Amino acid sequence: MPHSGPDEPALLPARTSADVVIVGGGPVGCATALAFAREGARVCLVDPRAQSLRLGGEWLHPTGAGILTSLGVDLAREEIPHAPGRGFAIFPKGSDPIVLPYVGGELAVGCQHHLLIEAIQKTLSRYPNVTVLAGCRVTEVARGRVAVATPDRTRTVEVAADLVVGADGRQSVVRQTLGYGGGSKPVSYMLGVLINADALPCTEFGNVFLGGPGPVLAFRVDAHQARVCFDVPADRVTWVRNPTELLAAYRPTLPQSVVAACERALAADPPSVAANQWLRRRQYGRNGIALVGDAVGHCHPLCAVGMSVGFLDAVTLAKSKSVEEYASLRRSGGRVPELLSMGLYDLFVGADAGTSELREAVYHTWRSSAAARHDTMRLLAVRETRRAALGVTFARLLVAASRRVALGSVRRPVGYTLGAVAGFANWAGWFAREAATN
Ligand SMILES: Cc1cc2nc3c(=O)[nH]c(=O)nc-3n(C[C@H](O)[C@H](O)[C@H](O)COP(=O)(O)OP(=O)(O)OC[C@H]3O[C@@H](n4cnc5c(N)ncnc54)[C@H](O)[C@@H]3O)c2cc1C
Repeated sequence: MPHSGPDEPALLPARTSADVVIVGGGPVGCATALAFAREGARVCLVDPRAQSLRLGGEWLHPTGAGILTSLGVDLAREEIPHAPGRGFAIFPKGSDPIVLPYVGGELAVGCQHHLLIEAIQKTLSRYPNVTVLAGCRVTEVARGRVAVATPDRTRTVEVAADLVVGADGRQSVVRQTLGYGGGSKPVSYMLGVLINADALPCTEFGNVFLGGPGPVLAFRVDAHQARVCFDVPADRVTWVRNPTELLAAYRPTLPQSVVAACERALAADPPSVAANQWLRRRQYGRNGIALVGDAVGHCHPLCAVGMSVGFLDAVTLAKSKSVEEYASLRRSGGRVPELLSMGLYDLFVGADAGTSELREAVYHTWRSSAAARHDTMRLLAVRETRRAALGVTFARLLVAASRRVALGSVRRPVGYTLGAVAGFANWAGWFAREAATN
């Protein structure tokens, strides 16, 4: 692959051209480069980082894993350590786990973030029509061209291209160039630890521990290791610097084996930390400038949808005749995964009566109905992206929660019942507003 790295800035020409220039070589930028390269386009990919160990997506739903396979990425062939995942095991505090397997026995992939990117890069390196400007940063964007600063920042390279793709993540300069308003809303923090995978109660599933200050996700990333992600509420940010306090706060909701493994891991290495933010997926670009992945929008990683949604952007854009066609195709289904993610996050952390009742109704419905488990997993796996389908699932839950409150065996104080009803109304209003927003 033509490749210019930080050690060879002098070799970069002052001007170059491609059919497509992609700003950002994260998972979605690399997948977009691959999708266009397979269509025969001349691709230029610009990314400032060679490798990064930052905390990011490591659980890839079958939808995302299938897209990577269809793009020719084979983790086993590239000798990238990874592990399969059969679905989720949910651990509500104080009751038995609920197992939600993927529909039809599909499998997710768990893999460390930087290794997943490395796998896509290795596949990309087999395409002679791809140029990578590694270590370089895009400083200016206009229709048909971008300006790129060389790694030593001493020179600027101009890349002319019919299509400019912003795959530059949450602080996207391409998004800013398009003039799209609205910044990301802070939600919480995520603290990640790598532990011995044998400590997990359900090693073949993504384990979700609920009932603590925030949800904790834990899943295998290879044959031996598991990633544990602690969601840390924004007002508890001091825990990020004090893992002992953090573990004490989550201890009552975690199996002892996981606590002990985290203690060992945190004694050996500092944790990785990332901020969780929400920006609604609404605007995908125009006039020869497109956005993909987190540059379009991003949400809390509880449902692990970010990369699958971004890979759907990548393959849809590469098959579209124009940015406008791409935008219209993605707008129809792009919001359901984020609504599910933000809705479930609020449901799992909320403490008011309405949210508590709705949460219990969700647990009960998952335990008692195979159809509900099936529908949930199609939504979670990004297989079902119609708003109407999410709306039906949500309405059923509201009805189930209302019945629990109205007909439940435990008599509640009137104030509690009124609070629950008001809470349901809030939830219904939230969903109606969000689902109506394009
Ligand atoms: C803690 C955490 C856990 C997550 N877990 C999951 C999960 O399990 N599963 C899942 O699917 N998703 C998960 N996500 C979401 C997932 O990480 C993102 O959706 C995904 O990384 C988005 O990829 P991207 O390529 O669009 O953006 P990014 O990964 O942010 O990559 C953007 C790239 O653009 C580059 N860049 C930025 N500015 C410029 C510039 N001016 N010029 C050139 N390059 C530039 C950056 O260096 C970077 O390499 C998680 C997110 C977080 C924060």
